This record gives sequence, C-alpha cells and structure tokens, in this order.
Amino acid sequence: MNKPNVLVVEDDAPIRNLIVTTLKTHDYKYLVASNGTEAILEASSYNPDVVFLDLGLPDIDGIEVIKNIRSWSNMPIIVISARSEDYDKIEALDCGADDYLTKPFSVEELLARLRVTIRRLSLMNKDGNIDETEYINGNLRIDFSAGCAYLNNEELKLTPIEYKLLCLLANNTGKVLTHTFITGKIWGRSWDNDTASLRVFMATLRKKLEAGPDSPQYIQTHIGIGYRMMKID
Ligand code: CA
Repeated sequence: MNKPNVLVVEDDAPIRNLIVTTLKTHDYKYLVASNGTEAILEASSYNPDVVFLDLGLPDIDGIEVIKNIRSWSNMPIIVISARSEDYDKIEALDCGADDYLTKPFSVEELLARLRVTIRRLSLMNKDGNIDETEYINGNLRIDFSAGCAYLNNEELKLTPIEYKLLCLLANNTGKVLTHTFITGKIWGRSWDNDTASLRVFMATLRKKLEAGPDSPQYIQTHIGIGYRMMKID
C-alpha cells in the first residue's frame, strides 16, 4: 500500500495540528474534520484508509460517528480519548473501533498505533481476504479445517476453550478485543465471572504459546480493557 490516507477527527486545534504535522513528516496523506458531522461526510466522500477519531466532539459523540461508519464500512478506526476512564475506550472498541490512544500521547505512540493498523490492513488486503483454512503469523500456524494449532511445526496441546480463544484473537489480528467481546464470543454471555475465567484461560494459553511469559510476542494485554493478537513480521 502506498501513502495511506488518514482522516483526522479532532476539534482541539493544537492536537489536530500535532497529528497532521506528524503525518506530513512521515509521508502520510491526510484529511481533517473538526466535528462529527464533518467526519462522517469526509469518511463517506473519500473512503480513507484509517481514521483517528477524538471521542469528545462538539456536535455528536464520537461513539455515534463509529456506529455510523460501521454501518457501511470496516475502515480501521483508532479512537483518541482524553478521558482516562477505560469505560469510553471499551464502549468505542465494542462499537467497532480497532484501537485507542489516550491523551496526552507522544508522536511515537501515534506512529506505532498507525503502523499496527496499516500492517493489519495489508494483511487483509494481500489476497483480498483472510484465508479461511489456514492462519500463519510468525511461527504460529492454525489449521482451521483440522482444528489444530502449531508453533514451530509442533502441535500445541490446547483445550477446546484455549483453541477457540486463539482462533478468535487470530481472526482479529491487530485489533484490540475487549473482555466483554471475547467472553460474549466464547461463552455466549458476559458476566464478571467470565472475565475472571478468561484471565485463567488466557494465562494457560500463553504458557503454551509464548516463549517468554514475561515478554509475550503474540498476545498483548491491555490492562482493564482486553487483548490483542500482534502481527509478527
Ligand atoms: Ca475533543
């Protein structure tokens, strides 16, 4: 993909300028919007590759912008939240946002989030869609038709729930999945007990998957929010 086009939605001019300057310096194309109505208009008119979306907008809530865009597009949305409460980020992710940045953020963080998202995009675009029979990421391979996962060509001895969990994360590589989303998909409901169970299953899955449990390569933890499968280069 050459020169991704990034839509920046932010009503705060200094922050908007910081993002735009960063994008310009790093050779990205960009569009800007300073409220939710403009954001929806720009997104539908120009179909950008990635959207940076501030949640606190003057006209409509950022969450409504996500819902609107998600009703017709899967374009990656990275939420920017000034609010420190995890609740907003979780709601945004559950409404279909892909990732988040918390204000104040550094230019490095901004670029890192953008790189993860663009890797995810190129992964999806490579063959037009994600291969439905096999998943390969670094040394991890999942054979969906056989229902088996392999690390360095050795079969991982996974329980049915660990396998389900691994497939769910793999099918959403690069995207932050919330506890509620994961437990809803695994157990078909989401109670506090399920989040506690999820932690246990995630710990055992990681013990089998990660070489160093203290430096996970595949599954990234977002404390209080959820987990993400990283794309390994
Ligand atoms: Ca704002």
